Amino acid sequence: MALPTLPRSVSIREVGPRDGLQGERPIDPSRRAELVLALRAAGCTNIEAVSFVSEKAVPPMAGAREVIERLPRTSESVITALVPNLRGAEAALATGGVDELTVTVAASAVYNERNVHRTIEESVDEIRRIADAATAQLVPVDAVISCAFGSPYEGGIPAADVAALARRLVDAGSSAVTLADTTGVATPKTIEAVLREIAQVLPGLSPGLHLHETRGTALANAYASLALGVTRFDTSVGGLGGSPFADGAGGNLATEDFVAWLDSLSVHTGIDLDTLLIAARMTAELVGRELPSKVRAISGVNGAGSSAILRP
Ligand code: MG
Repeated sequence: MALPTLPRSVSIREVGPRDGLQGERPIDPSRRAELVLALRAAGCTNIEAVSFVSEKAVPPMAGAREVIERLPRTSESVITALVPNLRGAEAALATGGVDELTVTVAASAVYNERNVHRTIEESVDEIRRIADAATAQLVPVDAVISCAFGSPYEGGIPAADVAALARRLVDAGSSAVTLADTTGVATPKTIEAVLREIAQVLPGLSPGLHLHETRGTALANAYASLALGVTRFDTSVGGLGGSPFADGAGGNLATEDFVAWLDSLSVHTGIDLDTLLIAARMTAELVGRELPSKVRAISGVNGAGSSAILRP
């Protein structure tokens, strides 16, 4: 008997400063930039730092430009911005400090209409306009498909429909596709089904995964994904985040939990756990409460685990 062979390394996109902090009380852009730099110091080479949304609609994301202006550019680090529309994309591109754009569309028609008040088709059309603008400046676009493994409204979404949407997003100019388990309903079986369909329709694409902890299944789903060859994951420092628009959405898979676990499996991430835990502590101070990540909790409760986990 043998465990499945896993990739030797994975790349992690740290989404805490955006996906995590968007659901918290507003925090000054200078402090959000400090958090991004602390995550960069830990070895996070792709950080979703901001979103260029309406400040009225999402007050915690106000001051995106100020955050970007405080981040020194380096050749080895990618700063990503979420943009909801062409206007946001133009604002992000105008900073000159954004290396990648993320856009979202739901595989669930109802979720998409409730979340962004558009049909899926209208969202894809807007993503085409965003990709045209971004590509002109050599900035890649990653289309994140929310509810890729099920919807709180329709229930299951056929894997073939998710793959067909991925195809349309690539045709619209997206250079990458990420599958988000928005409400934490994914299982190894549904992940396998969607990845299999996508491999048929887009054989050259390596989708990323954005997993949530709603039912405590994020690491089990991550293990299945790794065994299926996925090498790109979104995670959030402290396990902050979740969708403010989806009932029962849990936090994102915590970066420190994922990194500690990958270290134990000898899967390389380039992220240093000790330094990451410093960024996690900074995050807890920023939001003014304890974080749901477990590596932190273990260190506080019984001191068990590795020397890295023993750090305060
Ligand atoms: Mg999320």
